[in-house]
Amino acid sequence: MRQGFFHFIEIQDQYNMESFLVNNDGYYGEFGGAYIPEILHKCVTELQQTYLTILQSEEFRHEYEQLLRDYVGRPTPLCFARRLSERYGCRLYLKREDLNHTGAHKINNTIGQILIARRMGKRRIIAETGAGQHGVATATVCALMNMECVVYMGKTDVERQHINVEKMKMLGATVVPVTSGNMTLKDATNEAIRDWCCHPADTYYIIGSTVGPHPYPDMVARLQSVISEEIRKQLLSQEGRDCPDYLIACVGGGSNAAGTIYHYVDNPSVQIVLAEAGGKGIETGMTAATIALGKMGIIHGARTYVIQNEDGQIEEPYSISAGLDYPGIGPMHAYLAARKRALVLAVNDDEAIRAAYELTRLEGIIPALESAHALGALPKLSFKPTDIVVLTVSGRGDKDMGTYLGIDH
Ligand SMILES: *Cc1c(COP(=O)(O)O)cnc(C)c1O
Repeated sequence: MRQGFFHFIEIQDQYNMESFLVNNDGYYGEFGGAYIPEILHKCVTELQQTYLTILQSEEFRHEYEQLLRDYVGRPTPLCFARRLSERYGCRLYLKREDLNHTGAHKINNTIGQILIARRMGKRRIIAETGAGQHGVATATVCALMNMECVVYMGKTDVERQHINVEKMKMLGATVVPVTSGNMTLKDATNEAIRDWCCHPADTYYIIGSTVGPHPYPDMVARLQSVISEEIRKQLLSQEGRDCPDYLIACVGGGSNAAGTIYHYVDNPSVQIVLAEAGGKGIETGMTAATIALGKMGIIHGARTYVIQNEDGQIEEPYSISAGLDYPGIGPMHAYLAARKRALVLAVNDDEAIRAAYELTRLEGIIPALESAHALGALPKLSFKPTDIVVLTVSGRGDKDMGTYLGIDH
């Protein structure tokens, strides 16, 4: 239980004033880069050369901010959780990404990327999806912007995520079931990359997390950084200081966590806690705890930790939460873990379920299973009563009711 506390002393000792944001070559330390087939070199380079200019332009910022406000419903509240604070002996705030349109943080990214795609003159959008959440967020913005949308999804996932498939179709997207490999997320990703190789001129590939070749991890982190920008302002007005003592978020690929920590990552007084999916336990093999178990490899065009076997073949991850069972991890987060800037905890299925019930009963908020992993980190930490803790509730639990009901408490 006290393990977290001692770990942080070690973090402080090792900390030096390096930056944890991307460098000019697209790397975070030895993580990141762009390991892509020759045929994509031109479109990835084009994106690398234009994304910052677009993101920083007055015209983009205006349109993006307007859509976040009027379409997504931002700013999302920073909500003081009174009863949960009492339980854990700190001042705990919840950043309510569950209140966004489509029920999670993913829309912050898809809105931004479709605006970039339009400015680059692309007419066709492709995406990959595992649980279907990123597919729905992409199909949503394609409907809004009247763009063609093709979503690749493993056949296994198509079968187990029926409602999200129907939502994507209703929104006008074409869902392509992928039958290679295990017919899950990594196979859908390979297929999306193959499509992009065939249509490099007119197609834009919207990646759903801080993964993929440079510039995607940095671009997605910047688009999600609206989360920490709002936390700063909200903490200042609610607590009189803009820095929390702790930031806590779950990590699948890492986008909600990147958004939560973005403006604080180079400030060593803010402790960063990342919760990855332990599944049935990291010693069982039924897990998605990439930081705990992954080895350096290449996945999705980036150099990072990957759950792989001795031959370097990517292993199928497992988590009760479909949004967290990615066999890789964003290069930024791999670097934060390697440099001990972040404390990474594996939260198991049963701990996440317990945490979801606790939030529901104490605060009247049913969280997404992914977000429940962030909540499951709380009992593993020890706080001082004056500590200000901000935890991101990345999404709402409606989609997970089947899982919540299926497990007996
Ligand atoms: C997809 C998803 C996640 C995991 O993705 P990140 O890129 O790590 O944020 C977390 N929470 C919710 C609700 C999701 O839909």
